[in-house]
Amino acid sequence: MDAGPPERAGVRAALQRLGVTAEESRLGERTAFWVQASGSAVPPDSLARLPGVERVVPLASRSPLVEATLERGARTVEVGPAAFGGGQVAVIAGPCTVEDASALRDVARFVQQSGAAALRGGVFKVRTSPHNYQGGGLSALRDLHAASREVGLPFFTELSDPRQVELVAELADGLQIGARHMQNFPLLIEAARTGKPLLLKRHMAADVEEWLLAVEYVLQAGNERIILCERGLRSAERHVRYLLDVGVIPWLKQRIGLPVIVDPSHSAGDWRLVPALARAAIAAGADGLIVEVHPRPETTRCDALQALPPADFTRLMHDVAALAALDGRTLCGGPARGDERPLQRAAGA
Ligand code: PEP
Ligand code: MN
Repeated sequence: MDAGPPERAGVRAALQRLGVTAEESRLGERTAFWVQASGSAVPPDSLARLPGVERVVPLASRSPLVEATLERGARTVEVGPAAFGGGQVAVIAGPCTVEDASALRDVARFVQQSGAAALRGGVFKVRTSPHNYQGGGLSALRDLHAASREVGLPFFTELSDPRQVELVAELADGLQIGARHMQNFPLLIEAARTGKPLLLKRHMAADVEEWLLAVEYVLQAGNERIILCERGLRSAERHVRYLLDVGVIPWLKQRIGLPVIVDPSHSAGDWRLVPALARAAIAAGADGLIVEVHPRPETTRCDALQALPPADFTRLMHDVAALAALDGRTLCGGPARGDERPLQRAAGA
């Protein structure tokens, strides 16, 4: 592409209009303009449209706030008594969706006694089909809150709409942003402004840069209490529901100062595969898991195939503790002394 004096003057004028100064130098046949400015001050695409411009190469990070998290040191996100990051492994467990209050209390008690650090349960379900069960709403949220307080576990629940934020944040200890809402930026901003811990799942088709730009929104809204959650990607494969990106766990741990957990349930889509994926995640350095557990998976209206029955969850927790110990980490959570009530109730035994 030819860039003679008129084209170079055009670039200079455009940069002047943007209010930035540039250093100009010759690179062989080409002219380079070195600009120091933030991405929003210089829209790269608008410069790339100018006559004589071959390309615009952004050198600065697109997510500087995310990068700065590591410079300030790896952080631990505390959610009530649960701690994500900082040498502990924390497991969030519970049903996909809250259906029956008394079964929920039993499963909450059960996961707590098996060593979970927090409870999960969907009340505003985000379903691919509008004909599927959409969740129990506010009354289910109250049931979840009651069960959480009864057993002494903090709880996470998913938000799907900025209008739910105030209501949910009043009761929930941690706000879950589901995969499908990773780029729902008004929701991210509203949720971030509550100051509550945010569990930010990766969209099933998002690359890491897009995921980290979603994190950038939350950081920009003033909330650093972020837990990243890898939950599997859309792929050509059908043997698992979503393909778990195990490699992203050490990648993030080395570059970003935020805790990273894994959801093996939505990735596997089948309870028989969940323990293996969960073990892989912990072995790869994940700071925790979010796992779907149901006392009677065959009775639930939501994600029945992937729910772990209680006995499988207990076994998994033993494995998680053993794997965590291999690299000097401990399990965050577990029954308080003297609180070992029979576990069998949740299993219906
Ligand atoms: C869920 O956690 O129940 C859920 C719907 O997960 P995801 O957003 O990862 O699909
Ligand atoms: Mn689910």
